[in-house]
Amino acid sequence: MSISQKNQYDVVVAGTGAAGTSAALEAAQHGASVLLLEKGRHTGGSSNYTEGLFAVDSYLQKEQGIKVSATDVLREEVDYSKYRADSRIWRKYLDDSANTVQWLKDQGVKYEGVQAMGAGEATWHIYEGMGQGVLHDALQPQAKKLGVELLSSTTVTELLKNDDGAISGLTIKDEATGNTADVKAGAVVLATGGYLNNPEMMKSLTHYDTSRLIPVSSGKGTGDGLRLAWKIGAKKYGTGMAMLFGGYLKDPDEPSFKYMASQMETAAGQQPLLWLNEHGERFVDEAVVYNFSYAGNALYTQNKVFSILIRASLIRWLRTATSWAWVSMSGVAKRWSSSRRSWMMLLQPINRLSSRLIQLMI
Ligand SMILES: Cc1cc2nc3c(=O)[nH]c(=O)nc-3n(C[C@H](O)[C@H](O)[C@H](O)COP(=O)(O)OP(=O)(O)OC[C@H]3O[C@@H](n4cnc5c(N)ncnc54)[C@H](O)[C@@H]3O)c2cc1C
Repeated sequence: MSISQKNQYDVVVAGTGAAGTSAALEAAQHGASVLLLEKGRHTGGSSNYTEGLFAVDSYLQKEQGIKVSATDVLREEVDYSKYRADSRIWRKYLDDSANTVQWLKDQGVKYEGVQAMGAGEATWHIYEGMGQGVLHDALQPQAKKLGVELLSSTTVTELLKNDDGAISGLTIKDEATGNTADVKAGAVVLATGGYLNNPEMMKSLTHYDTSRLIPVSSGKGTGDGLRLAWKIGAKKYGTGMAMLFGGYLKDPDEPSFKYMASQMETAAGQQPLLWLNEHGERFVDEAVVYNFSYAGNALYTQNKVFSILIRASLIRWLRTATSWAWVSMSGVAKRWSSSRRSWMMLLQPINRLSSRLIQLMI
């Protein structure tokens, strides 16, 4: 899309994920003129892949008879983070969360219900049609109806300040032509996502060995908003965290966006199989897999992790429906038949069951 003809807006929003699109829509609902910008050709960012949102005390939880105390959640957060979590931000987030569920419903979002992750509380409000549906069937159409101007393939490259040091606008670049333009703005919202896809920032801001990580995201989280804000004097604070997302099979023959949907990945990485480190030792109760971020943390404590997948497990899952994520026998069989993969090893039969050893990467 080409750069806007208009050069002044009440609000300019960078990023069309859940944060940016919601901000743009809310601003328009309050009567502001709004420009919403997206550097990619497609809108929605990583928010397209979300399954549901966190909330306490929502109308859906009340309907399902679920009671979760906001104060208990807050206490858990500060305990878990050893008081690194900002309790005022958390309190506001918790107190607004039920209204957010309702606000999304009012914009046309439909929910499947509320569920728990692992042994946690039932706070995950699952959307119908995932984040993709939320953004493309509800929020974006509503925003456009209210006159929000949306430009894709348009990157925010600079924040502009006036003589008083206040932000007065921004510079944008049309990715198709390379043309740039300055736009004046009463307020600028930076909603450009994280920096998982920026190897330099991952290296300098986190302690993770990035050769062990597989970025599962839109690929566009390159930390633009942080860098733009830092450049004009914003304080550097709170960086350094990545949420590890369970165990993945690092298959050099496939692009990373395919890993998540792979049946072998689901079988080996997302079921409570036997996990061993390179010394053949167990290091965790594998039931941790039911909470994938905890599982990611546990896997990362070891240099290497092998997941022992035997035919009997597959057959049991299929017969008794004990697999918590759907595993298709034919999907696994395709990989099963290929023994030349670097991440898969055939073991000698154990108790007459042929087994495969699959290396999980994280
Ligand atoms: C597979 C997966 C599943 C997930 N599931 C859940 C879930 O169920 N529940 C949950 O709460 N969270 C979930 N998350 C996390 C969630 O996706 C993110 O926390 C959330 O999407 C962040 O939203 P955002 O709007 O801040 O950023 P994003 O959705 O990443 O959007 C940022 C947008 O800004 C654009 N952008 C970047 N730089 C610029 C620039 N300079 N100019 C213009 N545009 C720019 C990007 O292209 C992108 O479209 C999941 C994440 C993944 C990857």
